[in-house]
Amino acid sequence: MLICTMNTRLPHHLKLAIIVAMAVPLTAQQKPKPEDTEIWQPEPKIVTPGATDSAPPSDAIILFDGKNLDEWVSAQDHSPAKWVVHDGILTVSKDPGSGNIETKRAFKNYQLHVEWRIPENITGSGQARGNSGVFLASTGPGDSGYELQVLDSYNNKTYVNGMVGSLYKQSIPLANPMRKPGEWNVYDVVWTAPTFNDDGTVKTPAYATAFLNGVLVDNHFELKGQTLYIGQPFYKKYDAAPIKLQAHGDKSEPISFRNIWVRELP
Ligand code: MG
Repeated sequence: MLICTMNTRLPHHLKLAIIVAMAVPLTAQQKPKPEDTEIWQPEPKIVTPGATDSAPPSDAIILFDGKNLDEWVSAQDHSPAKWVVHDGILTVSKDPGSGNIETKRAFKNYQLHVEWRIPENITGSGQARGNSGVFLASTGPGDSGYELQVLDSYNNKTYVNGMVGSLYKQSIPLANPMRKPGEWNVYDVVWTAPTFNDDGTVKTPAYATAFLNGVLVDNHFELKGQTLYIGQPFYKKYDAAPIKLQAHGDKSEPISFRNIWVRELP
C-alpha cells in the first residue's frame, strides 16, 4: 500500500530504504519485553508457616489447640459450649442436650483447617455412622447453614451427595480418601462466602474447595444455597457467620476434633 502511494518515479531501492527507515523505529518501540508483564506491587504479606503443613501459620486464628473451648459457644443459645475437652482433643458430648457448637467469631471468606476422627468402635450404618459436619457458615438458629459433611465413609455406603467430602445434598466428592475409624482425617477448606444485593438477591454465589487428607474432594464448587435435608437449596442473605460443628445425635460413639484454625481471606 505504502509502495503504491509513493512517487512512482523513485528508484526501487530508494523506496525500500524509506520503508525500512519508517518500520524499524516502530518495531523497536512495539516489541514486547519481559518487563511489560511483570507486577511488583503490592507485595504479598509475609506469613510464617507452621512447623508442619498442619500447624497454624502465623496469621491464623486458633479456634482449638487442645486446651479449651474459649472460641466456641453453644449454637442454640450462645451459652458456653458443652463438648468435652480431654487429652488435647475435643469430643462431641454424649449429652443429647449439648447440641451443636459454633465459633464466637463470624467470618466471611477464609481458609480452614480441621482434623477429626471417627472412633474405632463406631457402630451404625449409612448416615447414622459417625455423622457430624463442619458448617462453613452458620447463618442463624432458623437457618440450616452450609454443611461440609463429616461421616464414616470407610466401607459405609450412603447417597453419594451425603457421604464424606460432600457439601451435603449438593456436591458429589471427586474422590473418597477416607481413613478408617480410629485414624485422624484432615479437612483443608477454602470458603468463598456468598454476597447479596440490598434487596436480598444473590450477587455472587458461595464456592467451596475442600481437600480431605490432602486429596481434592470439592473443586471451587458453586453452591445453590443453604444445606437442606428436604427440598431444594436456596440462599438467604447474611453478612458474616460463625463456623459450626455438628452434634448429629447418633447413638454410636461420638466424633472427636483437634487442631482447628482459620485464616481470613480478602
Ligand atoms: Mg452431618
